[in-house]
Amino acid sequence: MLLPRIARDTGADAVYWNRRYEPAVIARDGALKGALRAADLGAESFNGSLLAEPWDVRSPSDKPYRMFTPFRRRLLERLQLPPALSTPRKLTAPPAWPAARALDELELMPAIPWHERMQNHWTPGETAAMRRARKFLASRVRGYAESRNLPADDGTSALSPHLHFGELSVRQLWRWGERSTKGWPESAFASELIWREFAHHLLFYQPRTPLEPLDPQFEKFEWRTSKSHQKAWQRGLTGFPIVDAGMRQLWALGWMHNRVRMIVASLLIKNLRQPWLDGARWFWDTLVDADLANNTLNWQWTAGCGADAAPYFRIFNPITQGQKFDPDGDYVRRWVPELAELPADCIHEPHLAPATVLAAANVRIGKTYPAPRVNLKTSRLEALEAYRSMRSMR
Ligand code: FAD
Repeated sequence: MLLPRIARDTGADAVYWNRRYEPAVIARDGALKGALRAADLGAESFNGSLLAEPWDVRSPSDKPYRMFTPFRRRLLERLQLPPALSTPRKLTAPPAWPAARALDELELMPAIPWHERMQNHWTPGETAAMRRARKFLASRVRGYAESRNLPADDGTSALSPHLHFGELSVRQLWRWGERSTKGWPESAFASELIWREFAHHLLFYQPRTPLEPLDPQFEKFEWRTSKSHQKAWQRGLTGFPIVDAGMRQLWALGWMHNRVRMIVASLLIKNLRQPWLDGARWFWDTLVDADLANNTLNWQWTAGCGADAAPYFRIFNPITQGQKFDPDGDYVRRWVPELAELPADCIHEPHLAPATVLAAANVRIGKTYPAPRVNLKTSRLEALEAYRSMRSMR
């Protein structure tokens, strides 16, 4: 283990860090604490990433929660944010830094520059995170309850990677929100921050959920693993424009709008009947905000197999979702340029557009843009049948 050695080489007498809640990290940090203490060094961890520790938000009968609403109520009852400490005026550097390899020597950057668009889109670091948070709370938070559902708008905060990497503390964000937003704890934005808490609470008490459904009945669900469906979904070539737009936004920016995340996940799990875990893995590999707690909760929520999940029979229709939440088709035009010339009333179901409209927009179904991968109606009925048959198994 390197840290005790580095601590010794730099003359440090203690190591402090902020806790995380992923099962593997809990195990690693426990081992690290032991090693540091065995080397006669101080070792302390603190809560820097949640509003409240998972073990401080238990039910009156001292049980962890599985439902969001009572969890939220209890969290708000128990929430006591300690006053923020002031920034240290000075941090003393060690007399000598231990020998180390330069970061560039590790050649961590990809040889093929596929990440350039992503790199230009995001500004990592605390300063950028704080600026984004302040800007959001000063203006867009007011219309958030409505605009957060419209993927073409810049209506959400895009703070997720900053929160995940600890560049912005959720406690800081909460305090600023309290000061600047009317009816704060009841606001839609505060509620999303509590979903994040709930996800961490669940991961802490249900550490097997990143790999197993919380509802064990789903172990018996009849998935239809298909590499070709999965590839088409990953590449944004399913023939459902809002899904393809989302998957291409994910590939380009490492981020996807929440409404679209739900739509793409529903298509994959329910209409294409691919295991939710395969979808979760693709998100894990491609999201800049990939977060074990949030990703697990949300995939299981969409699949209907997790805590406080959407019922299985709630199957999003990607066409009507597109028409409702991207009515002018601007989101689709941005991410699926081959459909950009289509009028708004055809853009979410190009395969049904009249031939003259398709020709005028230079769209050839099956050539420039794929036909839908599945029939939404029949695949929906088949998914419901698979669900019924799973429920009837003992
Ligand atoms: P905002 O709407 O501005 O919300 C503010 C913050 O609240 C977010 O940054 C996030 O920390 C938290 N939050 C918002 N919605 C949720 C939610 N549903 N669950 C938990 N926390 C939430 N979020 C991740 O951070 N990492 C993931 O790996 C992740 N995977 C997801 C997978 C699926 C299938 C779905 C449906 C959602 C997933 N989410 C994930 C939740 C949500 O989509 C993102 O947090 C959100 O889109 C991030 O954008 P934002 O910062 O603009 O959110």
